[in-house]
Amino acid sequence: MNNEIDCTAALRKMFEFLDSEMTDIDADEVRHHLNMCAECLDEFDYQMAVRAVVQRSCRCEAPAELRAKVVANLRITTISVTKQFRPPSP
Ligand SMILES: [Zn+2]
Repeated sequence: MNNEIDCTAALRKMFEFLDSEMTDIDADEVRHHLNMCAECLDEFDYQMAVRAVVQRSCRCEAPAELRAKVVANLRITTISVTKQFRPPSP
């Protein structure tokens, strides 16, 4: 499977992902890139935090279903990143 994308493409897709205007295939590409690229992962975390603050301050809640999907995706990303960066056990 060859779904490698560069940082520019990853960031562009990331914004689509954050706005939930993305296909599952593109979301996979973004997750795949975030697993390998700490810089993009930092940017992704930052964008997520910004959106969380904005949503809280304007009280316009995202639909529960959408929010659950985003949280689930974020957990998957976090889990796979944690696994990847864990030092190999002896
Ligand atoms: Zn990157």
